Amino acid sequence: MSEKQSLIGASKPQLQQLLANIGVPEKQCRMRQEQLWHWLYTRGSTSFEDMTNISLAMRTQLEDHFCLQRPKIVTEQISVDGTRKWLLALKPQSPREKAPEVECVYIPESDRGTLCISSQIGCTLNCSFCHTGTQRLLRNLTPGEIVGQIMLARDQIGDWPGAQALDQTGLPTSERKITNIVLMGMGEPLYNFENVRDAMLLAMAEDGMAYSRRRITLSTSGLVPEIARTGEEMKVMLAISLHAVRDELRDVLVPINKKYPIAALLDACRNYPGLSNARRITFEYVMLKDINDSAADARELVRLLAGIPAKINLIPFNPWPGSPYECSNWEQIETFADIVNRAGYASPVRTPRGRDIMAACGQLKSLSQKQRASDAKLDDHADSKIMSEAP
Ligand code: SAH
Ligand code: SF4
Repeated sequence: MSEKQSLIGASKPQLQQLLANIGVPEKQCRMRQEQLWHWLYTRGSTSFEDMTNISLAMRTQLEDHFCLQRPKIVTEQISVDGTRKWLLALKPQSPREKAPEVECVYIPESDRGTLCISSQIGCTLNCSFCHTGTQRLLRNLTPGEIVGQIMLARDQIGDWPGAQALDQTGLPTSERKITNIVLMGMGEPLYNFENVRDAMLLAMAEDGMAYSRRRITLSTSGLVPEIARTGEEMKVMLAISLHAVRDELRDVLVPINKKYPIAALLDACRNYPGLSNARRITFEYVMLKDINDSAADARELVRLLAGIPAKINLIPFNPWPGSPYECSNWEQIETFADIVNRAGYASPVRTPRGRDIMAACGQLKSLSQKQRASDAKLDDHADSKIMSEAP
């Protein structure tokens, strides 16, 4: 990995400062910053050579000090359904950090393409049904590493203006190949608030990548104190990992519930800035056989959400090696969905995508925490290990 500092993730004021630091005369800094910004975030340049409206001398000076490096692909896996999962190597932040890695997933559909990005390496929380939760938190991602996942994915599928899509198979017909971004990969985004916010502000900048805030969804396990700020400072769509309608059960499934129980969480949702029928909160509900999937649970869910403009997203549980739950059977999911539908909520059942490559919700787990040959438990994770082995 390059020793030079990557410009990916720098905001406009930061770019201006970096230019000043390398001796660009103050009078030129603003103009140069605007040029750089355009090449970086509107055009997706991967080389200073592309930046044809910047003088050769200036380009050489930039090249001497900086790079445009995104996270590096360790492995790419393509599912039979077209879902792509990339295991990405990040630049170590300290000499002690060994091969930090995260996963990022692209889910193409005919009319849209969703990119699922990570916000942390691992997770401090340990929701009992989530694979990422079995990996301890190694660190927060920087804004550049977060926005870099989007940029890398756009490089890979040819999704920058003027680029030729490298491989058309299975890509959506929409003009953009990545139309939606979801913060539903590894990590709890609200435990990395500032970096996630700064990355999303870059993704949304109108003279840059210009993703609409209505097409960015941040999923949280329910960090109540950060919810209002999310609406104020990011203004993105909110998804809540609810998964249970009683505190006793949610305490087990989503243990952060012990700190921020259901009533407090739903209060924060009711007060989410910008909430309206046009901007509903999505409640995610994983379907776990005989655990949270009864008709009584569905009725209680409807009762709890009364008055909150909401969508309910039923997620069939995606198993992972050693997971302690089973997915509800199909009739049970339909009965549950019917009750919720009849109460007037849209309740799409999320079709699992990329299960064959362990890319579905909650299956992500990089082995940044490298497995030891003697670690029999990790040996069970054969599938995820193969794709995670760094060369
Ligand atoms: N930490 C955040 C975002 C990442 S998880 C959060 O918890 O919301 C993204 C979604 O996948 C969450 O709703 C999470 O509860 C769900 N999920 C985790 N493991 C899952 C599994 N094995 N099967 C189905 N969904 C899962
Ligand atoms: Fe972390 Fe979300 Fe997984 Fe819970 S569901 S362990 S908060 S990534």
